[in-house]
Amino acid sequence: MSDHPSEKPADVVARLRATFTTDRTKPLTWRTTQLEALRTLLTERGDELAAALRADLGKSREEAYRTEIDFTVREIDHTLQHLAEWLRPQPAPVPDRLSPAVAHTVLDPLGVVLVIAPWNYPVQLLLAPVVGALAAGNCVVAKPSELAPATSRTVADLLPRYLDRDAVAVVEGAVAETTDLLAQRFDHIFYTGNGQVGRIVMRAAAENLTPVTLELGGKSPAFVDRGTDLGVVAARLASTKFMNAGQTCVAPDYVLTDPETARELEKELTGVLHGLYGDDPSTSPAYGRIVNERHFDRLTGLLGSGRTVTGGAHDRSERYIAPTVLAGVAPDSPVMREEIFGPILPVVEVAGLDEAIAFIRDRDKPLALYAFTESATTRDRLTRETSSGGLAFGLPVAHLTVSDLPFGGVGESGMGSYHGRYSLDAFSHRKAVLDKPLR
Ligand code: NAD
Repeated sequence: MSDHPSEKPADVVARLRATFTTDRTKPLTWRTTQLEALRTLLTERGDELAAALRADLGKSREEAYRTEIDFTVREIDHTLQHLAEWLRPQPAPVPDRLSPAVAHTVLDPLGVVLVIAPWNYPVQLLLAPVVGALAAGNCVVAKPSELAPATSRTVADLLPRYLDRDAVAVVEGAVAETTDLLAQRFDHIFYTGNGQVGRIVMRAAAENLTPVTLELGGKSPAFVDRGTDLGVVAARLASTKFMNAGQTCVAPDYVLTDPETARELEKELTGVLHGLYGDDPSTSPAYGRIVNERHFDRLTGLLGSGRTVTGGAHDRSERYIAPTVLAGVAPDSPVMREEIFGPILPVVEVAGLDEAIAFIRDRDKPLALYAFTESATTRDRLTRETSSGGLAFGLPVAHLTVSDLPFGGVGESGMGSYHGRYSLDAFSHRKAVLDKPLR
């Protein structure tokens, strides 16, 4: 349901379209006012959002602020700082045969856009695209995930109190409501979630020739080279893999390394996890929970895919699965056949870089590829010989916090990108303008 409870999706879209038609969302001042209002919401109501995230995912307050609330505030600040500059017409050279003439491009808002978000970072992944859509001068329908119900309700309650109600609407709901929404004509659909639903979204969008951004997932590998400082590697792998109990689209999904490094790394990971979450991670306030029983059952079904180095404990009544490292995992074992999206880190052994590259290239293009290496040649080969949404050396996940880098996938991990000025590109049409004097 929307913030106008009796409103059907068609009415929501018609109401927003009527707003867009007035051109009131186009001036820079409207856009910055909306972004500032969203910023105020996040700072004034951050604790309510953090409480909802705790209820849905057992997220600690610290993690809720760091990975969702403050993350979105930073995205807003970066956008506010640069928006005027990004919106400036871009001159283009004109060939001699047309002179005298000038040419440039301008960014046109698209109209009414739909943002569909998943449950794992239900604040960030709903609101960061909304930031881009508003910055680009659009009206937005935001559809939070029903699998994070407390966050969905909180966002649906708060957004209309802070933002232009006739330009931004929250429509809550599950498959039926989203199907109804997808039957409407939008000017862009921005979807984050799994590839199966991504296909449904793209099919629905095709009916109206609506462009889509698909932010999907997949198995993001982490290659660990010989001769790296494995204490550092283990610390950085563990802190990024087990954040949000592994339910992060860009979490390192599995490790690829040679057998000797594998043994050492497994030992280091055990020590690091102990340091992070103590003797019993189920009592650590820093450690999250699995979103629901369905995912809990799916994940516990993967625990037998290798030798348990550390972790393995689980409790269905609490949706708790300990941070787990599996060793000696076969490439065709269950844990390697799907995106894990949970706190299980398999270590797969390869002879070295050549085999690692072949392994990565044999599979779907990942959302991210990570590598820990001291070798410039290895970094160069991975850059040239593999394809992935993003590539990060030395530290997983953090590339998506660099506002000037595009965040998005390729192939099975998605299409299109966003963050910072790339969000503006996603939610605008770059219009070509040629001006030749009549004289
Ligand atoms: P989800 O189940 O919350 O679904 C995402 C959205 O799709 C929800 O709003 C849901 O209501 C809607 N939806 C579900 N079924 C639908 C249907 N049949 N028709 C129309 N809409 C439907 O989230 P999820 O898909 O489980 O999310 C996890 C996946 O998302 C993982 O694969 C993960 O890697 C990926 N992901 C990607 C990113 C990214 O930025 N690239 C970020 C987070 C998650």
